Amino acid sequence: MKLLEDRIRKDGVVKPGNILKVDSFLNHQMDVELFNKMGEEFKRLYADAPITKILTIEASGIGIACIAAQHFHVPVVFAKKSQSVNLDGEMYTAKIESFTHKRTYDVIVAKKFISPDDHILIIDDFLANGCACLGLIDIIRSAGATVEGVGIAVEKGFQKGGELIRKQGIRVESLAIIESMDDKTGEITFRN
Ligand code: 5GP
Repeated sequence: MKLLEDRIRKDGVVKPGNILKVDSFLNHQMDVELFNKMGEEFKRLYADAPITKILTIEASGIGIACIAAQHFHVPVVFAKKSQSVNLDGEMYTAKIESFTHKRTYDVIVAKKFISPDDHILIIDDFLANGCACLGLIDIIRSAGATVEGVGIAVEKGFQKGGELIRKQGIRVESLAIIESMDDKTGEITFRN
């Protein structure tokens, strides 16, 4: 999506450790008009999928998922991060290793919000090593629901997440895929 690539080139900052900072428009301050265009694009890409729900993970996926949901006319569920899960049988849980914070979280979704007849689109801001998405896929499968696909704002194509998920036969649509980036020069190259 050219609009997003242009914005990343203009306002994204490449940090050491393969981190792209996009906090001026994506995951701290949020450009909601840009989110709306991204939501439109997710809807165009998944127009043929019978999506009943969008699943994301707190915190930075929530804004993008909510704006996208207005194009799909479905509810958004976000997986909550928690450091100690009180397993009472009412929750689906998955362990997720945070790429940016280098620690492991349990994420939880209440069982009542995902049912076997749901067709779910996962939406998140970044795809890096794929841990967050794979955790959400696990949760959807535990519920017996269908993963219709994954919608990502920024995929870092040089990390393994995209390949891992696509290898499972799951559709992944990323609005911008970074082929390489250099924290010394600030240069960012996108995949065609
Ligand atoms: P993964 O689980 O795919 O390794 O990482 C995905 C999560 O880590 C995303 O939800 C995002 O919050 C965070 N993340 C991964 N890479 C980056 C990055 O380069 N920049 C920012 N801002 N967040 C990232």
